[in-house]
Amino acid sequence: MALPVRHDGETFNNAPREHCCLCRGLTRYWYVRADVALCEVCAETAQVSDIPRKEDWLEKERALDPSLVSRRFAKVGDHQFRESF
Ligand SMILES: [Zn+2]
Repeated sequence: MALPVRHDGETFNNAPREHCCLCRGLTRYWYVRADVALCEVCAETAQVSDIPRKEDWLEKERALDPSLVSRRFAKVGDHQFRESF
């Protein structure tokens, strides 16, 4: 069963796209229930159990691209990041 995803819409029109939590493709679609980026392609086939927790997703993104996460996710309140900033 496809998961419902929502386009991030006009409000964030100028924001960079996020990495899909499954394939890491850039997307403007979100799986709102878990508050993680999820592209339309993955949403077609993904199960709820495939979706990482937001904390895990951020952890992965942070590991893969610290500069991106430091810029984008500082608001999450990761004190580890802040200490290294
Ligand atoms: Zn994807």
